[in-house]
Amino acid sequence: MSKINERILQNLLRSYEELAGQTIAIDGPAGAGKSTVAREVARRLGYLYLDTGAMYRALTVKVLREQVAFDDEATLAQLAARTAIELRPETDESGRVRVFLDGEDVTGIIRSPAVNQCVSLVSRSPSVRRVLAELQRQLARGGRVVVEGRDIASHVLPCADCKIFLTASLEVRARRRHADLATAGFAVTLESVIADLEHRDDIDSRREVAPLVQVEGAHLVDNSERPVSEVVEMVMEYCRKKG
Ligand code: C5P
Repeated sequence: MSKINERILQNLLRSYEELAGQTIAIDGPAGAGKSTVAREVARRLGYLYLDTGAMYRALTVKVLREQVAFDDEATLAQLAARTAIELRPETDESGRVRVFLDGEDVTGIIRSPAVNQCVSLVSRSPSVRRVLAELQRQLARGGRVVVEGRDIASHVLPCADCKIFLTASLEVRARRRHADLATAGFAVTLESVIADLEHRDDIDSRREVAPLVQVEGAHLVDNSERPVSEVVEMVMEYCRKKG
């Protein structure tokens, strides 16, 4: 083995040892690139990847189907309690997950414009948050996990070893989401994506229970002008130092 390869291998092994058993929380506003970064960090470390936004989105599908009013707290509480939400890793090496709602694969539906528009109105319900936060804690219990969301460091896992707040400018976030939606076959304007992101960030930041916030001690990473690989490296480096 060449000296360079040997050094790379040693660095890799050291990273794995140093990061053994960490819980990594990645919070931030909509469209900041949390999923891409969290998934890649989890893949490189061999950790579980937990997309908590997907859970709120799946429940929103059910709320819309059952036509429950967003402010009907009692019915939302019952609905959340009798709903099974599962995240199953894809069988390929992509690190992506498929999302199941009461056994039905809703992976495609949860990213639709209809769900985008309503998810923050469902997620601001204290009962919904109680049920899903508990589920998230259970799933993260064993450690070796990268959890992404809005309230992970502040509320769900306040003892996480590593807390990252990932953000990017509104324009960059909107362009990314617009491209994602176009790829998924949803024809929406960039203006409507900007309005959706602003609307969601506003509700997510101002709700009473577990609002989106950068907690003290969270490491701020701006993802506006960096390639994904660089952001992933920054996160890994930060967690390595924390380990
Ligand atoms: O991350 P993503 O954009 O998929 O999240 C969708 C929505 O789910 C957010 O806008 C927010 O309303 C809600 N959410 C939340 N708490 C989390 C994760 C997501 O309230 N931990």
